[in-house]
Amino acid sequence: MSVRLSSNDIVFRSSVRELTAEAEESRAEWERFHKDKGCSCHVVAPCGFCVHEGNPANQAEDESCWTTREITRIVRHDNPIRRINCYF
Ligand SMILES: [Zn+2]
Repeated sequence: MSVRLSSNDIVFRSSVRELTAEAEESRAEWERFHKDKGCSCHVVAPCGFCVHEGNPANQAEDESCWTTREITRIVRHDNPIRRINCYF
């Protein structure tokens, strides 16, 4: 998506860190099968709750789970009420 810029536009750029589609899937799986059960390392360690790749603590340490999305926000100065969000 591209937008024609005018001289009154202000462009803000930022980036957000998001889980990859694959990591989203394993997070969902962890939430479905392990989250409510909680840690059971006191019975058998390490437990599925802890070692599952979708565990948020594991994903936080694994760079391959993350992707960075650049966000460009353009604010039209001639009309401050109108804001246009563009995702490149
Ligand atoms: Zn555990």
